[in-house]
Amino acid sequence: MKDLGQLLQDESGRQFLRDNGVYISLDEFNDALREPTNGGPNRVYGAQQLYMDYTLGVSTKVAALKDLSDRGIETDFIWIDTDRAGSDNLITRFYWPGIGVDNAKGYGSVSVKKAKYPEIRFVELYEEYLANTGREFRKALGAEDKYDAERFQRFWSNFEDKSKLVDLNLSLTEFLFRDYFEYFPEPVVLSENLGGEFSRQLGNVVRDMPAVIEGVNESIDYLKRKDVDPQIGIKDETYLPIYVTCQNDGKRSPLRRLNEDQPYAAANCSCGNEMKFPMGQELSVDYIIRDATWSPDVTLPFLTNDSYSGGVVGKSSALYGIVLNRVMRNVLGKEPIPLFVPVEYTDQLQDIKTGLIPNYFNRK
Ligand SMILES: [Zn+2]
Repeated sequence: MKDLGQLLQDESGRQFLRDNGVYISLDEFNDALREPTNGGPNRVYGAQQLYMDYTLGVSTKVAALKDLSDRGIETDFIWIDTDRAGSDNLITRFYWPGIGVDNAKGYGSVSVKKAKYPEIRFVELYEEYLANTGREFRKALGAEDKYDAERFQRFWSNFEDKSKLVDLNLSLTEFLFRDYFEYFPEPVVLSENLGGEFSRQLGNVVRDMPAVIEGVNESIDYLKRKDVDPQIGIKDETYLPIYVTCQNDGKRSPLRRLNEDQPYAAANCSCGNEMKFPMGQELSVDYIIRDATWSPDVTLPFLTNDSYSGGVVGKSSALYGIVLNRVMRNVLGKEPIPLFVPVEYTDQLQDIKTGLIPNYFNRK
């Protein structure tokens, strides 16, 4: 099955993407934007896990948003802080040759807490670890003759007075992107924005869950018949697009829809903790939203669609975006917003392919 890169190689693949609302030309994407269903000016979003540093993939999204912002379009970036902090190295570490506990891989580290499970939003920082990272990093910079005290201090000020990883990473993220692009899209920290509109949209999706599951599976089949990799798997009848976090160990588990006398949602954490929420015949998420620490899965576009005019997405999210778009149109009665894959920005950002932090210190 073809991935996005393979689809981009010929015109029929590119036409297939356009026909399904996925654009690789900023001009075509710009023309396809429409006013958000919920009203207001044209607004485009990008989304990504909240890292310490960023290489090409995320930077191309920000570069595209900057160009859209220059065209007068409002731009948001949804920083996802509800994934496990261990799910990507760049969440708690950054690349720098020769420093840190993990010298072989060249990752500096703000290693925070030796725990496997916490989501980014729950990771606490420890002053002594941070101070140690700062000392090691200054030493490495000095050894390479790149140590400029003032420059280092501007960078390091992002680490000061931070007790949570999410605050450190957000501060660093804004600093690094502003330094490189002289621009930063309006930040939306996901965990702080799960109430209101996102909860309302989640309720709409879950109320139609049996039809949504059927729609997702039908759309996966549709892509496979076209020899395109849908990037997500078939969902069984218990599937819910929600994770809940265990109060005992902070571990995230997928919620399942089960049925006894009445439908209910349940997750069993590996520590033995059983979490259970009534849903009623109407498949309500009210108890989940009220009583659980919840987060959305990769179907986040279901929650954002009505607030935005378009989305800037990565290569795999573009393909499962096609699946989600079809479900929105065929099942949820929504007009899906166009998606833009910013591959055209890759060549011009080669100087940050190892990260914004190396670029910040290596740039003369
Ligand atoms: Zn647990």
